[in-house]
Amino acid sequence: MARIVQKFGGTSVANLDRIRNVAKRVKAEVDRGNEVAVVVSAMSGVTNQLVDYVSQASPLHDTREYDAVVSSGEQVTAGLLALCLQELGVSARSWMGWQVPIRTDDAHGKARITGVEADEIAKRFKDGQVAVIAGFQGISPQGRITTLGRGGSDTTAVAIAAALGAERCDIFTDVDGVYTTDPRIVAKARKLDKITYEEMLEMASLGAKVLQTRSVELAMNMGVRVQVLSSFEDTPGTLVVDEDEIVEKQVVSGIAYSRDEAKITLMQVRDKPGVAADIFGPLAEASINVDMIVQNVSPDGGSTDLTFTVTRADLKRAVKLLEDRQAELGYRKLVHDAGVVKVSVIGVGMRSHAGVAQSMFRALAGKGINIQVISTSEIKISVLIDEQYTELALRALHTAYGLDAA
Ligand code: ADP
Ligand code: ASP
Ligand code: MG
Repeated sequence: MARIVQKFGGTSVANLDRIRNVAKRVKAEVDRGNEVAVVVSAMSGVTNQLVDYVSQASPLHDTREYDAVVSSGEQVTAGLLALCLQELGVSARSWMGWQVPIRTDDAHGKARITGVEADEIAKRFKDGQVAVIAGFQGISPQGRITTLGRGGSDTTAVAIAAALGAERCDIFTDVDGVYTTDPRIVAKARKLDKITYEEMLEMASLGAKVLQTRSVELAMNMGVRVQVLSSFEDTPGTLVVDEDEIVEKQVVSGIAYSRDEAKITLMQVRDKPGVAADIFGPLAEASINVDMIVQNVSPDGGSTDLTFTVTRADLKRAVKLLEDRQAELGYRKLVHDAGVVKVSVIGVGMRSHAGVAQSMFRALAGKGINIQVISTSEIKISVLIDEQYTELALRALHTAYGLDAA
């Protein structure tokens, strides 16, 4: 007998037939004698619709009410799945985040889980009851409903698995595993049998939305065994594992992209100590994250152009803040561009191999794609390019690093 957490994403619970199909998968685990907790997302499209209602009702909304509204999609699927399980003769009940409870901080809209009390759920396993938990939601110290950020049901699943000491956390989705890159964009993408936590963490944070970044972080810290697999097919998925479990390390294991970037250039900024601090300080105070940065010294030596990226959602606020301070910061002109994409190559093997960046630059140059900004870390290289070349760049890099499926 094992304790297992199964998580089903939006497309897997998109309608009643699919929820019935999910119920069958849950029943199969129960029939194997396992104790099962299930985490569900809202039916696909529902969360987007709810977010849209909120923006229409109140553009600058109270985030506590945003959470009250957008968390509701998961309540519906949890109840429906519990009913479908009961119809199959399986004992089951639904749990909202506050009922478990899943405790979070009060950063509404992007709350962090601070604790999960799963004792009652574990107790009911003894009577053969399946727990169906609404993903994406928790309760703040003030007793208000919170949500965990988009894609947050993955994090609910990992947190529940950690709290229950589950043997496995299976993330069922609409692809049958983690691929070398988004299989919906690159037809030759290859499914990985295993990926390290570190690589998965980079892939997720650099744009591969197959797992929410925080879920990977939590799994890595708590030692939860995560598997990504299809809810529509019976094929083995991808295991997220420790580095020492991977025998053949690839130099590059995956390529990710993020359209959530916007570029700002400040032209002719005075080139003297303290300028960068004066520019990035106010942005940080306004909770605007700056990602990639490049600074060019101009030939006259007295001024410099400074280019950096922020998320698209923050672009307007960042531009306003910098324009309001133009006199103080002393730059000549600000230009911005939201038509950019960040493409990143990731691999733990990069630590011990030279020339990875060079292959990337050569492959992009070969397609006539101009690189606007570059940033690197130990196991990844990211470049910012014109958004219209996203697919071309992904395919070229996939081939250049020998990742194409046979
Ligand atoms: P769910 O609703 O089940 O949570 P998501 O839409 O959040 O599903 O995540 C699955 C999607 O992630 C896939 O449909 C795929 O397009 C996308 N994706 C992006 N990068 C990758 C990758 N490297 N491997 C697999 N899927 C990826
Ligand atoms: N329903 C939420 C979303 O669409 C959470 C999730 O699906 O993981 O972001
Ligand atoms: Mg998801």
